[in-house]
Amino acid sequence: MGFFKSISVHKPTPSSKSKFWINPNSGKEIQNWVFVLYDQISTFNPLITDPSKTCLIFIETSWKPNQRPYHKQKLILLLSAQRHFAMERGAEGFSILYQFEEGGYPSGLQSLWEKYRFPLVRSLEFQEREVQKEFEEWQSKDLKIQYELNPLFLSQFSEFRNIFPEGKKRLQETFYRAMRKKFGILMDDRGNPEGGKWNYDLANRSNWKKGDPQPMVPPWSSPDLLTKEVMDLIEEKYPNSYGSAESFGWPVTRTQALNWLDHFLDNSLEYFGKYEDAMDLEEPYLFHSLLSPMIHLGLLHPKEVLDKALKKYKEPKSKIPLESLEGFVRQILGWREFMRHIFTENADQYSKFNFFAHKKKLPEFFWDYSSGMRCIDSTIESVWRRGYSHHISRLMVLSNFANLYEISPQALNEWFWFAYVDAFEWVVKPNVIGMGTYADGGKTSTKPYIASANYIKKMAPSYCKNCKYKPDQILEETACPFNSLYWDFVGRNESYYASQGRPDYSLNHWRKFTQEKKLAIRKKASEIKKAWK
Ligand code: FAD
Ligand code: SF4
Repeated sequence: MGFFKSISVHKPTPSSKSKFWINPNSGKEIQNWVFVLYDQISTFNPLITDPSKTCLIFIETSWKPNQRPYHKQKLILLLSAQRHFAMERGAEGFSILYQFEEGGYPSGLQSLWEKYRFPLVRSLEFQEREVQKEFEEWQSKDLKIQYELNPLFLSQFSEFRNIFPEGKKRLQETFYRAMRKKFGILMDDRGNPEGGKWNYDLANRSNWKKGDPQPMVPPWSSPDLLTKEVMDLIEEKYPNSYGSAESFGWPVTRTQALNWLDHFLDNSLEYFGKYEDAMDLEEPYLFHSLLSPMIHLGLLHPKEVLDKALKKYKEPKSKIPLESLEGFVRQILGWREFMRHIFTENADQYSKFNFFAHKKKLPEFFWDYSSGMRCIDSTIESVWRRGYSHHISRLMVLSNFANLYEISPQALNEWFWFAYVDAFEWVVKPNVIGMGTYADGGKTSTKPYIASANYIKKMAPSYCKNCKYKPDQILEETACPFNSLYWDFVGRNESYYASQGRPDYSLNHWRKFTQEKKLAIRKKASEIKKAWK
């Protein structure tokens, strides 16, 4: 049975006596009408209670895919996960309204209201500003929406504001420590961090080479009939969307997401910390969890992810080192929550942030991975294939290059937003326009993350070994483009580095170059910037 037919089984039926609607599964009057957005498909959504009297409303709209050419796998993931969630809740006895709408979420709700006249629809607060705005701009006197705080995260904005009153520098580390204390995670009885240190980042900087522990392949699942139906739909309706749909295997149900989490805890958490910053040509995932899309959609709650990781660590035979566990906890409890609040605080300014005034558009190789730079092409190819690359390739390969190449941070953000399966407005903007490019002038991170080929060679020797460019050259024909671009960046931003009030290794190094060398670097960088369309 196709999705359309099976979902119509759960539609509310009119009461014979009055204007009320009845849940066909329970025969009871519907009292709770709940709108479930694509990133709230969570069994932890507190509005989804009492199936006998609740009707869940889902809207599938071309408004979202029309905003930008989202990766095909992202569209498949969102639609398939939402459809699975609706079917599962229907099987639990919830009444379900599943609306297909060209116009957008509010107009989808309005169309349903015209028919069902529900007095009030309840929803969790939306996270993506674009969706919030769509609702703000839409006027309806009749349809009332009641928003509730979204508990699918570990903290609320009010807590962030308490930690950072007006004027206090927003530092992820400060926020993270407050969260550790709030939840009592990795804290000893006297309120000190377990092991004596808050942060083991310095222990987490190994590269990975053959002979080191072998990463396990993530448990990609074969698409079921429902997912295949969605895959056909996306290929047919959005053939020009980014990426390939072919290898789709992301979890689309909670059961699959829980399996994925267990797989990570059993196989990868042990090495997560040590190889967190490593990159490798043949191992695009190394020991990363690939959990972000599942947590963002609501298939997993961040608290359960942490609880399970802590439980695994405490098992008698556990080999998970504290450094790994702490590194993972910091990502979920610290960075993920911190970024969300930084976004909330600056939501309407991201279109303007451009600290270094970069204006170039993205070169075409962001689509066809044809730059000839192995690190870049291999990262983009991985994104094309799965909508994913891990943190360091996002930061130190793609964003680093974009910054050195003077690409507009907003153009880069758009690309990240449609190309990655885990990109949602609240998380992609602070990461790209904040951490990745420093375009927000330091609201997210304390310094621009830029590096020459030296860094990439150290963390990903296999990239440089298989590249036509030479990571140790600056000016030669075969020199790695990152090098002249890097020194050119430092030279162009000399006043910025000098104003930071701390000795800067790169600046000192640049200043020691002869005038002749500086000019040659500038010339080389300028030629590189004209090389790609
Ligand atoms: P792991 O390395 O296994 O980390 C575990 C979890 O920690 C992740 O699943 C994620 O939920 C959380 N996390 C870690 N770092 C961050 C962070 N900086 N911000 C938010 N959550 C974090 N993350 C997104 O979820 N969506 C994005 O669109 C996104 N865009 C990024 C763009 C750039 C330029 C950079 C530098 C980072 C971006 N990140 C983004 C953050 C991070 O790279 C991803 O969360 C991470 O790579 C997801 O893969 P994983 O699940 O394997 O993560
Ligand atoms: Fe990347 Fe340069 Fe290394 Fe090639 S040589 S892989 S371009 S860092």
